[in-house]
Amino acid sequence: MKTNSRSTRKVQLALGAAILALLVLGATSYRAMTTSTESDRLVRHTYEVLENLQNLLSATGSIESNYRGFALTGKESYLDSYRASVLSEEQDVATIRNLTVDNPKQEILIPSLERLAAQKIQFGERVISLRQTKGMEAAADAVRSGTGERVMDEFQDVVRQMHDEELRLLVLRAADAKRHLRQTRTVLILGTALGLLIAAAAGWSVQRDSIDRGLAEEALRDQEEKYRLLIDGVQNYAIFTIDPHGMVASWNAGAERIKGYKAGEIIGQNFSRFYLQSDIDQGKPKAELLVAAAAGRSETEHWRVRKDGSRFWANVVITAARNSSGTLLGFSEISRDISERKETEAKYRGLLEAAPDAMVVVNQDGEIVLLNVQAEKQFAYHRDELIGQQVKNIIPEGFAERLRADGLRSVEDASAQQIGTGIELTGRRKDGSDFPIEIMLSPLESAEGILVTAAIRDITVRKAGEKFVAQMEGRYRGLLEAAPDAMVVVNEDGEIVLLNVQAEKQFGYRRHELVGQKVKNIIPEGFAERLIADGTRTAAEAVAQQIGTGIELYGRRKDGSDFPIEIMLSPLESAEGILVTAAIRDISVRKTAEQHLAQMEGRYRGLLEAAPDAMVVVNQGGDIVLLNVQAEKQFGYRRDELVGQKVKNIIPEGFAERLIADGTRTAAEAVAQQIGTGIELKGRRKHGSEFPIEIMLSPLESPEGVLVTAAIRDITERKKSEHQLVKTVGELKRSNDELQQFAYVASHDLQEPLRMVASYTQLLSKRYKGRLDSVADEFIAYAVDGSNRMQGLIQDLLAYSRAGTNEKGLREVSSEKALKYALSNLQATIQESGALVTHDSLPSITSDDTQLIQVFQNLVGNAIKYRSAEVPHVHVSATKNGGKDWIFSVRDNGLGIDPQYFERIFVLFQRLHGREQFKGTGIGLTICKKIVERLGGRIWVESQPEKGSIFYFSLPEGGGK
Ligand code: ADP
Repeated sequence: MKTNSRSTRKVQLALGAAILALLVLGATSYRAMTTSTESDRLVRHTYEVLENLQNLLSATGSIESNYRGFALTGKESYLDSYRASVLSEEQDVATIRNLTVDNPKQEILIPSLERLAAQKIQFGERVISLRQTKGMEAAADAVRSGTGERVMDEFQDVVRQMHDEELRLLVLRAADAKRHLRQTRTVLILGTALGLLIAAAAGWSVQRDSIDRGLAEEALRDQEEKYRLLIDGVQNYAIFTIDPHGMVASWNAGAERIKGYKAGEIIGQNFSRFYLQSDIDQGKPKAELLVAAAAGRSETEHWRVRKDGSRFWANVVITAARNSSGTLLGFSEISRDISERKETEAKYRGLLEAAPDAMVVVNQDGEIVLLNVQAEKQFAYHRDELIGQQVKNIIPEGFAERLRADGLRSVEDASAQQIGTGIELTGRRKDGSDFPIEIMLSPLESAEGILVTAAIRDITVRKAGEKFVAQMEGRYRGLLEAAPDAMVVVNEDGEIVLLNVQAEKQFGYRRHELVGQKVKNIIPEGFAERLIADGTRTAAEAVAQQIGTGIELYGRRKDGSDFPIEIMLSPLESAEGILVTAAIRDISVRKTAEQHLAQMEGRYRGLLEAAPDAMVVVNQGGDIVLLNVQAEKQFGYRRDELVGQKVKNIIPEGFAERLIADGTRTAAEAVAQQIGTGIELKGRRKHGSEFPIEIMLSPLESPEGVLVTAAIRDITERKKSEHQLVKTVGELKRSNDELQQFAYVASHDLQEPLRMVASYTQLLSKRYKGRLDSVADEFIAYAVDGSNRMQGLIQDLLAYSRAGTNEKGLREVSSEKALKYALSNLQATIQESGALVTHDSLPSITSDDTQLIQVFQNLVGNAIKYRSAEVPHVHVSATKNGGKDWIFSVRDNGLGIDPQYFERIFVLFQRLHGREQFKGTGIGLTICKKIVERLGGRIWVESQPEKGSIFYFSLPEGGGK
């Protein structure tokens, strides 16, 4: 092919040269010929002038001879000839003038010639006229005057001059013509020779080329065969040719493998069958051929269809084939199945696109080979515009250095590097504007060599934030940090520009990690909506909004955990536009408390609410998690305002100390502690006023750890009444003393008349029993019984009013002796009942012996009186209770007492049994109580019905009041 075209070119060259030579030759010959023709013409012209000069001479001669002949003879024939010669002469002069018009030398002579010719004719006319009028003599005279001869001589002279000039020209022109002829001949000979030579050379060259071509064509055939085998051997590429109409013309093994058609099946078919129907409908196959035809080549990636209908993603290169004259011969197509690569690419791309940062993949020449949508956005380019560009167009400096620096590190080192620690560089957008970036590179082994993936983060906001922080430093920083809530300042794009230390703590981020981040990273939902909603409010309204009334949202910590928050937004005008300050409160504790409350609801809620005291449940961090309605009332807060607050806001001091102190106690001890014995502290109401409280703590195990329930009693009233009490106690004592005096006096004074009534009724009974009628006996019996009872009652009342008055003063007494006195007083009863009374050895104490006897006597007496069917067994003992008190006990095996009456039996006149069952006044135990208490002790009972009772009383070793 190549050889062929070369030889054709040679022939063309030779032919061109020959044509050129002939053209030059022709032009030269033509020029030579025209020059030679011109020379000939000039020669002929000269001859013509010469001939006409000759004619003129002869005509002039004829004129002279004819007017002379007429003058001599007078014959008319001379006259005729004369006239003919004149005409001829005039004609000749005109001709000569015309012929010599181009020759200046001759032209100068022409006027003389004409003048002389005219003179000649004039003279002839005069001679003729003389002959006709004056006769022959006059005419002959005129001829003889010689004028005619003189004119004739002059005339002949002029003609000769002209003749000579023409002769000179003739010689010149003849030589000229001869020279030109010679030149023409030479040119013709040379031209012909040259033409022949070129023709011979071309012939020789073509012959040689044709030999060469023969050889080349053979080599080409060899080569083509090799290529065909090679192409056939290619398995991974479908390689085939298409004729200008789109029909498949050749087919390799790779094509068969990839597309599934055998060569025989597909050759001669339109190649559009490899396309999807939708692509065919859009005219894509034709369009691609058109592109290839116009541009020489078309490369695309699209779906292709196999013979079996399955599709694969193909990379297709179509190249146009043209012959040397540019005619389209057809196309070759090389296509490749890149489905697999596409799939990996898709996966990789997905990963790339998912990245929160701009990602740019760069090859070793610093060209961008891949990028994600964030990169498009950040740099404001369209993807196609960036691919293939130098990365330094978007990162003007530092990238290459980083690349080199990173090239020295291992892959692990590079991976270990966090983006947050990247060096700060500058990015450049399409519009030329710069912005600060942070960049992290990691190497990526690929088929195209080592690529570098650059994660690029726009840190404009962070930078602005840093600047802003610097500005704010003096002004608001302190304020911000002092806020008890997490504070986050957000710009109009929802990016965090500022935050305080509480925000760091609450969300578990370090400050620089948050600045520049989207606020929705830490408050995933609701913030934007709040922002918009709040954007429509005035600043005043926003400020008026309390954080407590904020909508509840969720915060997300760095570790991904969520926690409930309450949020309050307020706008903040700044140089950077309107910023929003968000106060964020962690309401986990409140939430947990609410949850806890819900859990507790069924169990403790009722109990808690029923408690007469304010109850507050506090966690180990000192946060209030639960409270009852009394607590709300007492402290003047709404429940939701208190939950989550520190307990020290309502109990400023002492609580924590109690908590710690109580932490060291066992639960049992804590439970044993009565609220009444609590330490007195101060409570603080919402509006700041303080009030005295008494507080009792008890631990409460819960799923959230050990909680502390604090029962808080407002003791304002008690304090008041204590005060009142002190005041009234004096009065009471006085009136009590008066009363006691009265009781004593009354019972004492009543004793006398009563004794009289009793003794006389007894006398009556003794003397008249059986003597009167039976009704009288009965009446007397009632009177006796009544007076006896009245006597007992009065005695008991007297004893009661006496009891507790230490008339004799206290002294060292043996309690054992006192018991013995009592028993001897009770001797009759003991004998009658057959009771067994035992005792341990009893201590000596400082006391009032009479009163002690009275106590023993009452208790042992009761123990025998309220006996069961068994023989009564009473045991008295005394033990020392740790401190200084002696505890005496009187144990029986009698009827026992229902615990509900444990208190009641010590009250005046209160009895559990009827008078018919057991005699008594209901005063005995009251006297005991009064005595014991006066002696500085207390009395109580432990008992179970049917199982006997133990009456205890304590007495101080050193005696009471
Ligand atoms: P009384 O004069 O009725 O004995 P007390 O004040 O001595 O009055 O006792 C009050 C009540 O307590 C008695 O009526 C009796 O019901 C009950 N009581 C007192 N001691 C005992 C005891 N050891 N066993 C059972 N019941 C008792």
